[in-house]
Amino acid sequence: HRESSSEVPAVSVAVVSGNAGAGSVRVEGVRKCFGPVEVLKGIDLRVAPGEVVCIIGPSGSGKSTLLRVINRLEEPDGGRVFIDDEEITGKGVDINAVRSRLGMVFQNFNLFPHMTVLANVTIALRQVKGISKAEAERIARDRLEDVGLAEKANSRPAQLSGGQQQRVAIARALAMQPELMLFDEVTSALDPELVKGVLDVMTNLAKGGMTMVVVTHEMGFARRVADRVVFMDQGKVVEAGSPEQLFDDPQSDRLKKFLAEVL
Ligand code: ADP
Ligand code: MG
Repeated sequence: HRESSSEVPAVSVAVVSGNAGAGSVRVEGVRKCFGPVEVLKGIDLRVAPGEVVCIIGPSGSGKSTLLRVINRLEEPDGGRVFIDDEEITGKGVDINAVRSRLGMVFQNFNLFPHMTVLANVTIALRQVKGISKAEAERIARDRLEDVGLAEKANSRPAQLSGGQQQRVAIARALAMQPELMLFDEVTSALDPELVKGVLDVMTNLAKGGMTMVVVTHEMGFARRVADRVVFMDQGKVVEAGSPEQLFDDPQSDRLKKFLAEVL
């Protein structure tokens, strides 16, 4: 990665408080097949309230599929997922209610191009939560301020850098007051000099106590911010532990090889 150049303005962001004490995740024996291929082969994962867990691993190891199962974007073929001790994989669970408890940010920010930044952040508040326009705009402006973009409320996505668009996507997720946040390679599509601003926002979210599950290739971020790092390969959790354990003292050949390639 290039060093950030001096032309890049520092991003000033607030520490955002999460819903302290909420947002635990428990994944038990989750399996998922696509046709004949089993891409999750019995995953166990626990995330405590306020904890930040980074998931690392090679492409195709099942990281995105795992996040999508936690968010009920995919149905698991086996195993169970609990949010705050409530099973969300059971029959009859209201999927929309589950999703409203989780904020998810993807690699491609998926903002509505024809809407202003403010409208992008308020639309779900108004349509899903039924909040009035004035109140939704107040919440949206607060969250945009949290990600350092208060002054961009009236811009269109195309007028923003990729990093700014991704910060809007984070503000949009936060506006819904999720109990936990899922991030799937949110900096992978960004020019290198834009990565830091997004990671700064995520670091401050973590400091504010948000429960976070972060799939990332940013090993520096994982080392600095994660409470725990999970290494996945070929549909399994191969190693999990503190950043120091995984990065400084990897046990498996597969993790050693992966780290040799990415570090
Ligand atoms: P990662 O995020 O770690 O790169 P993914 O969870 O995206 O891995 O994918 C795991 C495996 O599942 C890959 O082999 C991928 O091709 C396959 N896969 C993912 N989604 C689908 C899908 N909807 N249909 C078929 N195969 C899929
Ligand atoms: Mg992926």
